Amino acid sequence: MITKEEFEMLKEKLLEDKIKLSGELEDPHVSFGSDVDAFDEETDEAEEFANRLGIQVTLKERLREVNSALERMAVNEYGTCEECHNPISLEVLSAEPESRLCKSCKIK
Ligand SMILES: [Zn+2]
Repeated sequence: MITKEEFEMLKEKLLEDKIKLSGELEDPHVSFGSDVDAFDEETDEAEEFANRLGIQVTLKERLREVNSALERMAVNEYGTCEECHNPISLEVLSAEPESRLCKSCKIK
């Protein structure tokens, strides 16, 4: 089980991630840089659009995971593996605070 301090620390990390992800979603240029070559603009446009969509989807998925972790925190279900219902170790949660699975279930 994680301690109250660890819980607070993870919550802070999730809230920071949430702000960061929301910011990146609102301003797509942050993730792509602005060095678009003017000459290749037309040919690259479709590809860039696809890349942008891909990144947007990834960001949205992460944001959804982060929000869901915060919701689980609110109802005291945070830190429990959805597969085996054992507590998720701090090692896993520190690396990925939005994690739904414990280390052994992740490997499966
Ligand atoms: Zn598990």
